[in-house]
Amino acid sequence: MILFPKTVTAKLSLTRKFVFLRANSQIMFDRPADLKNALHPNMHDESRQGEVLVIEQTPKYKGRKLYIESYGCAMNFADSEIVASIMLDMGFETTSQYKEADVIFINTCSIRDNAEQRVRNRLREFGAAKRKSPGMTIGVLGCMAERLKSKFLEEEKLVDIVIGPDSYRDLPNLINQADEGARAVNVLLSREETYADISPVRLNSNGISAFVSIMRGCDNMCSFCVVPFTRGRERSRDPLSIIQEARELFNNGYKELTLLGQNVDSYKWRASPPTPLQGRGETHKGNVGDYSDHVPLSSGEGRGEAVNFAQLLEMVALIDPQLRVRFSTSHPKDITDDVLHTMIKYDNICNHIHLPVQSGNSRVLNLMNRTYTRQWYLERIDTIKKMIPDCAISTDIIIGFCTETEEEHRDTLSMMDYVQYDFAYMYTYSERPGTLAAKKFKDDIPPEVKTRRFNEILTKQQEGSHKRLLNHTGKTYRVLIDGLSKKSDLDFSGKTEYNITVIFPVNPDYMPGDYVNVLIEKCTPATLLGNIITN
Ligand code: SAM
Ligand code: SF4
Repeated sequence: MILFPKTVTAKLSLTRKFVFLRANSQIMFDRPADLKNALHPNMHDESRQGEVLVIEQTPKYKGRKLYIESYGCAMNFADSEIVASIMLDMGFETTSQYKEADVIFINTCSIRDNAEQRVRNRLREFGAAKRKSPGMTIGVLGCMAERLKSKFLEEEKLVDIVIGPDSYRDLPNLINQADEGARAVNVLLSREETYADISPVRLNSNGISAFVSIMRGCDNMCSFCVVPFTRGRERSRDPLSIIQEARELFNNGYKELTLLGQNVDSYKWRASPPTPLQGRGETHKGNVGDYSDHVPLSSGEGRGEAVNFAQLLEMVALIDPQLRVRFSTSHPKDITDDVLHTMIKYDNICNHIHLPVQSGNSRVLNLMNRTYTRQWYLERIDTIKKMIPDCAISTDIIIGFCTETEEEHRDTLSMMDYVQYDFAYMYTYSERPGTLAAKKFKDDIPPEVKTRRFNEILTKQQEGSHKRLLNHTGKTYRVLIDGLSKKSDLDFSGKTEYNITVIFPVNPDYMPGDYVNVLIEKCTPATLLGNIITN
């Protein structure tokens, strides 16, 4: 099945007015206020959790409405775009009002317990709507569907469809089953599904930034993490399909792409056909938490010539110097000097690396099965800073992992002092059923201790981030305008290559999607403020 591109919001620089071309209508915006209504920031951030996703286009209309909302990581948001593409092909249109939907999809996250609780609460609201409109279909997608499988149907009586992240091609079949009154489940995990041939519908797109999935699943077995069980084996997507998607996005006006994978550094594609072993789809059998059949296997095993991540990055960077390229997530054990050399070679690859540390202590890292030590991580940081002195570095930190002592917690704080992270996602440890940590270790750090340690980490990061922002004042940066400021129609909002938001007065000579040089004059705790300077 080949589905053709359906980029739904394309920006054209036809005039210096704000002109946007949508699939079925051309809309002119004379005033920034109109522009503000038309644009949504597209980078993944926490404030997007639960955000409703809307296709701004009328597809072939069959009169059935889809409401879809997503939780969790950027991969999940990217998956919702695949799902929307498949549903669009079936003739659905989207709605932002779940009460008027024929089908409600909730794309779920299992990474922490509170992510799952949020979904349960939301399902209660959807359930109330369904009681009023019994013909409505409710589908649970993504990691929680994969983790709980058919148990979900027992626990949540109003759910009709449970579908895992590798089974979205089966949606037409499952929707048909639901239409006939059956409750349907497909949580088959695959060793080869990458949805490479499905061109995602860009949802709530600002027409400037987009995610491109380059791989799926994960073969690392970090002891705290449920991802290898909910998203299956690691597999890389055909580079040609990635380049084609990236090129189409650029041709449609997009200026910034983020290449997505759980561990982009282990991206590997081999050209020859898959072996019989790889052609076989497989599912995790057994009950919730029974992951005993999961044996890590390198992706692409047994194939011919390989393309690695550094090469893929170069291929995307070569599409056009005006196309900014980002990537996430890098694993400290895998990030290579080749990737750093490629970043240096191409100005349009943003000098920003998201390098989750999780803990600053080697014993804890060992318990987490991260397969690197504090010293190894510090060496990687030193190398990055030596090779790319201005590189922004962000991270993920888990606080209060099993048996973590005060001293080990202080090692994480000292790691933060050393690295000076520009940004950090910080989480208290949440035990996930079936993971190695849940089987082997006691979740023994009391909640109040986790909270206190969390606050110490948070305070350090906030202070550090602010200090880093202050360092940018007085400097001039190339900023990609991505829309209007959330607070004022008179200001543009844009991003530096370090992924820092910059706010500066609107200048009618420029529009979203343009690069401008901005002199940074001051900053708030999280944002740079400046003025466009003309060369
Ligand atoms: N693949 C990425 C990596 O290895 O760095 C991370 C992917 S995971 C979706 C995002 C982050 O969630 C992790 O880096 C970790 O900090 C956090 N996380 C995962 N499992 C967790 C758990 N059980 N409790 C708390 N945080 C967790
Ligand atoms: Fe989870 Fe570790 Fe894989 Fe990241 S690398 S998705 S933390 S198992």
